[in-house]
Amino acid sequence: MATVIQAYRYALDPTPRQRRALASHCGAARYAYNWGLQLVQQRLEQRRAGEDIEVPWTLPALRWQWNRAKHQVAPWWAENSRDAYASGLDSLARALKNFSDSKDGHRKGRRMGFPRPKRKGRCRDACRFTTGPLRVEADRHHITLPRLGKLKTHESTRKLARRLEQGTARILAATISRTADRWFVSFTVEVQRAIPASNGKPSIVGIDVGIRHLAVLSTGQTIPNPRALERSLRKLGRLNRQLHHHKPGSSHRHQTRRRLARVHARAANLRRDALHKLTTYLATEHGTIVVEQLNLAGMVRNRRLARALSDSGLAELRRQLAYKSAWAGTSLIEADRFFPSSKLCSRCGHVKAKLPLSEREYRCEHCGMVLDRDLNAARNLAALVASTSNGVAGSGPETKNARGWGQGPPFGGTVLDEAGSRHQVMDLGETGTVDWQRPAT
Ligand SMILES: [Zn+2]
Repeated sequence: MATVIQAYRYALDPTPRQRRALASHCGAARYAYNWGLQLVQQRLEQRRAGEDIEVPWTLPALRWQWNRAKHQVAPWWAENSRDAYASGLDSLARALKNFSDSKDGHRKGRRMGFPRPKRKGRCRDACRFTTGPLRVEADRHHITLPRLGKLKTHESTRKLARRLEQGTARILAATISRTADRWFVSFTVEVQRAIPASNGKPSIVGIDVGIRHLAVLSTGQTIPNPRALERSLRKLGRLNRQLHHHKPGSSHRHQTRRRLARVHARAANLRRDALHKLTTYLATEHGTIVVEQLNLAGMVRNRRLARALSDSGLAELRRQLAYKSAWAGTSLIEADRFFPSSKLCSRCGHVKAKLPLSEREYRCEHCGMVLDRDLNAARNLAALVASTSNGVAGSGPETKNARGWGQGPPFGGTVLDEAGSRHQVMDLGETGTVDWQRPAT
């Protein structure tokens, strides 16, 4: 048995009064965040001017300051749960820590700037509860949160409720959040799980995530997008083009932006659901799964809709695979960042200098192979493990020996740090990366 931290997320069906209360709690969190940030800036200013003054930088320090000041600055504070203010101050403390860690070189990745004020309508509306009643009701269609009381869930809470009744799960926290016009609750739950060392399946499968279809597997299987998702994606493209025809600041533009947010949220939900079916299948039916590495920096910067969508699909796929494969005892392998899965020929190992997204087929100028672009990428991913792990024979594509990159170093099995998934804290013992060495062609 292992203890894992898992998230259970449900859409809510709040009444109009509850909607206001939900918004009020998120507003309170934002207020406390901005108040704390202002205080920190003020104190930094004073310190720069030569005063010997303490700057509250941690959650306890910020909470202490808030409790002293709240009667003055927010006489209405009792309208919301104490957790709402603590939640805002907590995200401020984290942002401050990220900033100083990044400055001191303790934090990997993109440089983190000094926290900025959160603006209503521009920031993510969210609020986290850690104390008071956090319950899933026995009728499996209601939950109870502090101050907000009993809220109806859109879908059944059966899976979580069953675990709670059996005593194999414990709720640690609940976060309410808004996406477009929908409210959600996400429970952070400590779950006892039996985790096998291996699922006993010998097969290796490479996956390429696309936009035209949900995914292409190295086995030649194409997993199509669900129809509803196809429709949403077409709508998304249309609205996005419309948006650029409206004048900035016009009411048309504002309206289109709101519709765009709604369609975007719906498409993301549809994709997530479809990916859940796929990842459950993959983690239980294959022994080793190979995915390409997520380009996190590119995800934030890339403005092209197509690329952004396929990146978000890959991020979600990886997030789900990370915990499902850990639970099933499946190995999840991530290709090295420089592995050119789409530019590499899966038959002869030739690497193209360029392959625009519009080209749907891989045409090798070296050996003449013509193959669906995504299938070619998926095969490359699967062959990456097949060619480096000697223990698994005969399960990779036949092309693996024609590569000329011979017996490269076996893959390292470096444990991934879960940069991509904020919500899942998992045992990732079975997860690794493969180092790629350019074949001598
Ligand atoms: Zn070729």
